[in-house]
Amino acid sequence: MKIFTAIALGILTQYCFATERPALVEDAPYAPDSGSMIIRCGHLIDGVSAVPRDNATIVIEHGWIVSLSFGTQVIADLPVLDLSGQTCLPGLIDMHTHILEVPSNTADQTQIFKHTLESTLATGKEMSLVTLKAGFTTVRNVGTYYGMAEFQLRDLINAGEVIGPRMQAAGFYLTIPGGGGDLLTPGIKESDIPDYLHLGIARGPEQFRQKAQLAVASGADLLKLIASGAVLAYGGVPGSPEMTPEEIAAAVKVGHAAGIRVAAHAHGAQSIKEAILAGADTIEHASLIDDEGIALARERNVALSMDIYNGDWIAVEGKKAHWPEEFLRKNDETTLAQRQNFRKAHAAGVPIVFGTDAAVYPHGLNARQFAYMVEWGMTPMEAIQAATSIAARYMGWNKITGSIGPGMFGDVIAVSGDPLQDISVLEHVDVVVKGGLLFKQTVAR
Ligand SMILES: [Zn+2]
Repeated sequence: MKIFTAIALGILTQYCFATERPALVEDAPYAPDSGSMIIRCGHLIDGVSAVPRDNATIVIEHGWIVSLSFGTQVIADLPVLDLSGQTCLPGLIDMHTHILEVPSNTADQTQIFKHTLESTLATGKEMSLVTLKAGFTTVRNVGTYYGMAEFQLRDLINAGEVIGPRMQAAGFYLTIPGGGGDLLTPGIKESDIPDYLHLGIARGPEQFRQKAQLAVASGADLLKLIASGAVLAYGGVPGSPEMTPEEIAAAVKVGHAAGIRVAAHAHGAQSIKEAILAGADTIEHASLIDDEGIALARERNVALSMDIYNGDWIAVEGKKAHWPEEFLRKNDETTLAQRQNFRKAHAAGVPIVFGTDAAVYPHGLNARQFAYMVEWGMTPMEAIQAATSIAARYMGWNKITGSIGPGMFGDVIAVSGDPLQDISVLEHVDVVVKGGLLFKQTVAR
């Protein structure tokens, strides 16, 4: 495909643009990452630069961005997406989703025991579409009770059989018996929990090593381990360790030997430090992190994925839906502390990625967390980068997504208005392009 700039061609102007508009992908199957188009952006936030730029033209060929230019008109025989009245950004990244789970599972955990692989995948398909249309072109899915179902969903998305975001998947939770990933439920004996609902149960470094190897051998893109107690699980104490440092280290070693990353769920100060020292790459939640933990995270470049929005959703909607009292209490005990510690950690220079724990609250509302990140100390640009280039770096995907420039996947979203003035405009994404294919356009075409 030949690409010229109007300046190079002198007499040629924007009138030489092809007028064809990109087709909307509405149904699977389709060929992922196969789209070609020109996107004209009124403003561009590229995910890396400190300031936006005006009048950008992005050329995407066969799924990949081949050029990005400013001010000049690019001529190519490609469909044109005219977003000259809007702000373009890289497709957003949520580093902590459970895309095959939904909030009603928390209201009544016994529901999970009725799930089949088919019903779990059906939920995952539906929520993948919702998530993509909310502007999240990439997610890191950090576990599903129905073990390994998320590998199938990821593979279906990659094959174009399901419309959804790019996905890294953990497969199941590495957790101790009775731990935050064990699905202990009043009225159900632990021995009655079927294996597939708690595949990652282990005790002692050797068992954790074996379970981590099972995850790797089954196709895990990352490992997810439950280092401390959880808020939304029976019996756990968020501030207390569950896995020992030796157990964490055993799992981390397997993950790193396989070239994948390790996400450690840790609310409590002690578990956060132990997980960092054992080599975890990201700390999930990090609610009760102390000064020592903040210093360690900064020193070792470990990112915090702090889900600082969902506490409000749980307090209102969880209460309305009669979530278990224990969950609501633990949510109350961690919400404010987590936000205060978010502010502290960010001020201290700890890397922070955008992770929401979507499934605790409805998929598609992921972007509600941006306003909280700004309220608690980030600039809007910092919050955007936490959900784009910085998130991509902590997934090991910064060479393919998380920013807009040549050599990256054509993952672009657009909003009306200026997210640097009002970050909440990201809650209403008008346009979603993933791999050069248009999946959503709500403005007049
Ligand atoms: Zn989670």
